[in-house]
Formats: sequence, structure tokens, C-alpha cells
Amino acid sequence: MTPPVFRFAPSPNGYLHLGHALSALLNFDAARAAHGRFLLRIEDIDQSRCRPEYETAIYEDLAWLGIAWEEPVRRQSEHFSDYREALAKLARADLIYPSFESRADIARLIAAREAGGTVWPRDPDGAPLYPGTAQAMPAAKRGARIAAGKAYALRLDMAQALRQSGALFFTEAAGPFAGSEPGEREVVQAHPEVWGDVVLARKDTPTSYHLCVVVDDAMQGITHVMRGQDLYAATSVHRLLQALLGLPAPVYMHHRLILDETGQKLAKSSGATALGALRRGGATPDDIRRLIGLG
Ligand code: GLU
Repeated sequence: MTPPVFRFAPSPNGYLHLGHALSALLNFDAARAAHGRFLLRIEDIDQSRCRPEYETAIYEDLAWLGIAWEEPVRRQSEHFSDYREALAKLARADLIYPSFESRADIARLIAAREAGGTVWPRDPDGAPLYPGTAQAMPAAKRGARIAAGKAYALRLDMAQALRQSGALFFTEAAGPFAGSEPGEREVVQAHPEVWGDVVLARKDTPTSYHLCVVVDDAMQGITHVMRGQDLYAATSVHRLLQALLGLPAPVYMHHRLILDETGQKLAKSSGATALGALRRGGATPDDIRRLIGLG
């Protein structure tokens, strides 16, 4: 039997905090317990927010926690051609289209639609679903805009994608991959439609989180994706992209989040729970485990 492959995939756009420690340690511990592999992936496609010092701090913090990962680390910024290829595949299947609107343009379009009293649907992150205006644009007009050098995002044609994929399901493990008893897994129906026509390549970045994560998990042979509950709804989009791109589906487990005293999930900017700050304040790796309930 091939060993299970786990991963931790932080973005170097801030310092790691207790929530990241939980995710990283759950994956590392599970990999060790299962005699599996543990990989680290740096999700650094957003070059405007990612910084080398944050990446260096990720390696320092993880090593301090006693986590060891395989080399070489996959850095997404070194693999744009892989994401371009995946987009090309979706384009050949007629599943993506360019949209030119900014976020402000979309907000205006939605406000106009809501002015009459109807409530426009929001995605699980609270953003209004894209109204599909660019899709209705005549091909000649679209071509002229692209030829004129106007920036555009690439969106998934959700309706067309769903027609192609049919109903989809993913496997959610009930505990942190403590075992493989049938009762500990649940088959969940994916509902990617709640996201509408999601962006797969942004105006400023020629790819997106959803696309990269799916391509990378497949390329790295990830068998088990353990990540925060905040990404549960995104898994439906990932399952859809896996189906459209012909990629295998890992087993998922979405773990509890570490909340601050006001009940909000920790943000990268909340310095008090940053691992580096805790370490400099005298905390030990065992203290961190205790703080996040892994003692
Ligand atoms: N890079 C994402 C984050 O830092 C995690 C992606 C994932 O685990 O799928 O939130």
C-alpha cells in the first residue's frame, strides 16, 4: 500500500499564528502516525501580499514546533505554467470566459438589481454572485476589448461545468484521520453552485487559490487534505475542478478553528497569537500544543 501523503499549505502574507500551528501539527502528527509523508507548500501566488521574510518565518516557526517536511518545498510562484495548462484545458472544454468588471463594478451591478427589493445571492464568503454580464457580451465586443489590452479575469461557467460534471461528492473524515473505520467517514454532496461563476484567474494574478490548490494537491500526490473549517465550502469548488480536470480527489477533514476572545477566527495581523511572538515571550513548543488543545 502506498503511504498517505499529508500537507500544510500556508500563504506567506503574514506571520503564522496558533491556528496555523494546529493545522500544521495535526497534519504532521497524522502523517507520522500513519507512516505517511508530510509536505509543505508555499502558496505565494499573490505577489502583492507575499513577502520573503514571512516565508522565512514559516520555516523557522515550523522547525521550532518540531515539524520536519520533505524537500524541495513546492512554491506556487515557481509553477505558473502548470496553472496555465489547467486553464487551457478548461478553455478547450469551453468552461471559462473572460470578465472585465472590477469588484466595484460588480457591486454597482448588484446594487442596481437589488434596488427593486430583490436580494441578490451571496457566496459563502459573503460576496455577491457574479451576475454573468460578461458572458452575455457578444463575442466581437469581447474580442475587441481583449485586443485593446483591457485586463480581465477568467471565470468558470458554473452552469456549463455542472452539466458536464453531474452530481459530485467528497469524503469527509469525522476525526483527524484517527482511523479508517467506515463509520469515521462521511460522503458529502458537493455544492459548487453556491459560488456562482468563480474566478479562476485574476486580473493581477494569472491563476487563483482554487485552481492552484487543486492542481498542486494532484501534482504532489496528496491523499489527505486536513485544513480549517473555514475552507469547508471551498471544497465543493475543488471537487468540481478535480472532476473537470480529471484529477483524483483526496480525503478531506476540516478541523476546528482557534478563535480569539471575541469569538473571531485568528487573523494573520493579530500579533498576540503569532508563533514567533509567543516563542520570543518564552513559550515552548509544548506550551503551544497545550494552548491549541493538542497537549
Ligand atoms: N493557503 C491557504 C491558507 O493559508 C490554505 C489552503 C489549503 O489548505 O487548502 O489559508
